[in-house]
This record gives sequence, C-alpha cells and structure tokens, in this order.
Amino acid sequence: MLIRFTSLWEHMEYDRVGSRGHLFTWMKPYHTNVYVIDAPKHVFIVDTFLGPAPMEEVKARLNREGVVGKTIVVFNTHADYDHYWGNQVFEGSLIVGHESALRRIRTQGEEGLKENRGQMMGEVHLTPPNLLFRKKLTFAEDHVEFFHTPGHTGDSSSCYDSVDGVLLPGDNLEAPYPYVNLLNLKEYTQSLEEYVKLGAKTIIPGHDPPQSDGNLLRQNLDYIRGVASGHVDLAAMNQRELRAHYPNTVRLAELYLEKADNNKTKAYYGEALRVLDLLGSSPENVDRRTEIATRLKNLG
Ligand SMILES: [Zn+2]
Repeated sequence: MLIRFTSLWEHMEYDRVGSRGHLFTWMKPYHTNVYVIDAPKHVFIVDTFLGPAPMEEVKARLNREGVVGKTIVVFNTHADYDHYWGNQVFEGSLIVGHESALRRIRTQGEEGLKENRGQMMGEVHLTPPNLLFRKKLTFAEDHVEFFHTPGHTGDSSSCYDSVDGVLLPGDNLEAPYPYVNLLNLKEYTQSLEEYVKLGAKTIIPGHDPPQSDGNLLRQNLDYIRGVASGHVDLAAMNQRELRAHYPNTVRLAELYLEKADNNKTKAYYGEALRVLDLLGSSPENVDRRTEIATRLKNLG
C-alpha cells in the first residue's frame, strides 16, 4: 500500500526565492505567506500564520532542506492573529515585533482568539514578541532589517533582506487594495513611499504572490493617496476594486464617527452607498444598503 504524505491541514506550497529565501504558502483559509531567510548568522522567520500545526510543518521542511543549526529569529509584521498565532513553536527564540504589537496582543489578543477560533491550526497559546523595537532593528552581519512602517495597522512593520533585495511589507500591500483600519493615511502614504525608495527586486506581501515589478506598490500608493486626499475615482474602479474599497468606506465612516466628525461620517456612508450601487444588487448588498441607510438616518 502506498502511503502518500499529506499535509495535516491544507496543502503547503514551498518555493525558493533569491539566494537564501524559502517561501511557504497556504491557500486556505486565504492565501498567506511565511518567509524564511537563511542568513549567515541567523535563520529569520517572517510571520507564523494561524497556529502551531503549519509552523511545525515549516520546521520539518526547513530541516529537510538543510536549514539547521542556526539561531532562529522570528519576526511578526504586525499583531493581526493570522501573522503570529504560530509563534509558540519558537518559544525560547527571539521573537521580534514593534513595541505596539506587544501592546495590541496584551489588550486584544485573547478576544481575537475567541473571535477567530474557527481558523486556529492546532491549539494556539498566545506567544507575543519578546524583542521589541520602535523604529528599526538591524542584524548587520546578516543584512536583514526590520523597520516600523505604520499603515494597515499602527504596529505594521516590514522586513528587508538587502542581499536578495526582498521586501516583506506584511499587509501594508494587498491586491487590489489594502484594508484601511485607521485614520493614519499620511503615515501610511509615507510608509509606501519608503518602500518605493528601497527599490526592492521582489516584494512578498502577506497575502499575495511575490511581486517582481512595482505595479502593486504603485497601485496601492495611488489608492492610499487618493483616500488620504478624499479623491478616489469610483468610476475608474473595476468590480474587484470596488469590492475591496467598500469595507474601507464603511471603516472610514466609523472612524470619523468615533471622532464625532458627522460630516465626514455621512460623506463616507454616502460613498459606501455609491459603491454598492456600482456593485449591483446581490442579497448581501441589499442588506448592506439597508444597514447603511439606517446608520445615516440615525445621524440625522
Ligand atoms: Zn493578514
């Protein structure tokens, strides 16, 4: 009888990148990357996905590839659960994160665990970063750098491997548009401009395939600049872009509501309704339209 080795959870894809990169990708529950840099002094693991099970697989595969015997350094691009739930597999190693990532995990980690329990891969024990930085942390001999790039979240940080010219921007870059969670659009724009200056050869976002041209970065920068200035051209968006823009309009409305800025709140709910018009009338969109119309009415 032939026994085929199959992944415990979902098929894990494996690929080599540049001279020292190992890329692990899962397509379920959504496209997610974990990236490993086999540098002279350390092995760097960028993000740990949804739990210990897939990260044990990563460890086993690295062993088979001969990536052994060096000190492991884990890096979390940000404290969204799908980027750090597998940290426990590297307990005892250095786990690097922005100082505000630790704060987020301490205040929101348990709640996130309850809310998203269905996505856990293995029994997750929250294991926050134990080496924190504010602006930048450089492993000079390895030519690997971690730097704060607020955007998608306030703690969002990036990794740059200057030997291979590989940039890991976490969820600051996403196709077609990233998720806006905060009113930090000026900072977000600056972070993306910093990426442009780096001129990376390869960009590997948290949830998209590796990018070898700068198109996604340019598109995301145009988009964030547009949102920041309040000039987003809905007529120029295709259906996929409209679907990605929709949650951002609602989120922005909610953020302005928290700031008691009624005019901007109404403006963004109004934009959400225009996006829904362009998206057509699926049952889901009809419900959304009713919900937003109610919220608008309550605003007076
Ligand atoms: Zn993510």
